Amino acid sequence: MGKFPIADAEISKIWICKKCKSRNKAGSEKCRKCGYRSLRPKRKEIRTKK
Ligand SMILES: [Zn+2]
Repeated sequence: MGKFPIADAEISKIWICKKCKSRNKAGSEKCRKCGYRSLRPKRKEIRTKK
C-alpha cells in the first residue's frame, strides 16, 4: 500500500491500452482512442521503496 491510498485508488481506475498506451477508464472493453481490445489495469507495481 502506498503512502496515499486515494492516489492508489485513482491509479487503479486507469487502464492502459497495450497498443497506443492511452489511458482508459477501468472496466473499458476497448481503447477509446484506437479501439484495441487489450487493455491492462495500471497497478501499484510502479515503484515501491524498500
Ligand atoms: Zn489504444
